[in-house]
Amino acid sequence: MKGCVVSDAEIMISIQHLSKSFGETQVLRDVSVDVKRGEVVVVLGPSGSGKSTMLRCINLLEAPTGGRIFIEGQEITDSKTDVNKLRERVGMVFQQFNLFPHLSAKKNVMLAQQRVLRRSKEEAERVALQQLERVGLADRADFLPAQLSGGQQQRVAIARALAMDPHVMLFDEATSALDPELVRGVLDVMRNLADAGMTMVVVTHEMGFAREVADRVIFMEDGVIVEEGTPQQVFDNPTSERTRDFIGHIK
Ligand code: ADP
Ligand code: MG
Repeated sequence: MKGCVVSDAEIMISIQHLSKSFGETQVLRDVSVDVKRGEVVVVLGPSGSGKSTMLRCINLLEAPTGGRIFIEGQEITDSKTDVNKLRERVGMVFQQFNLFPHLSAKKNVMLAQQRVLRRSKEEAERVALQQLERVGLADRADFLPAQLSGGQQQRVAIARALAMDPHVMLFDEATSALDPELVRGVLDVMRNLADAGMTMVVVTHEMGFAREVADRVIFMEDGVIVEEGTPQQVFDNPTSERTRDFIGHIK
């Protein structure tokens, strides 16, 4: 069945038996996760456990080698899926902000709106200012990236993603490259987004954020989900020793 609709309309992302190999190396093994509309799922795990690869599969930056992924009931792993249309619905924020250095914050947020969504300059500008305001940077719209702190640059990158009206946001260690004093501003923006009902999958090492904002925490190791539960379950009463060790080291 092509593009079939999953029964539960409240399921935003359905990852079913996902596997991914790079050559001989299997990086994800039979990973299955459902994310409901409005849910915030935090993914934890040691370096190399497959967290980034899983996120990248969700918007097809990587092609899965096995299994299926559905976004809002549409199978994205179907070869007929329009990848560009999919990416409009799934925003992603990386550790590196990747802003264009020669463009102002506002122009950075306008660009994909004009090129991909074909919005007029006026409309793109209106949305850009709205989203920059949302991330607390209304007064920095005309600054170049180099004139902004790392935290402000990351907030511009978040505004850029939000300007595309995504239905899902993926965050891959969005605060890992930042000086400690700049982390909070970015986490606050993410928290506000969660409070506003955005569906989010967040890879982070920020345990405080995970505890307070996550509806569900997933712990990955060696390409499999080792543990899954509410923050309370996973942090206070982990069932696996590997989870306990990891949390013990990072707390
Ligand atoms: P994490 O984000 O949890 O640190 P990754 O998903 O980045 O883990 O990587 C999981 C494993 O896959 C690692 O062993 C990594 O070296 C490998 N890997 C990731 N991307 C590639 C790639 N493009 N080619 C080959 N191996 C890769
Ligand atoms: Mg990673």
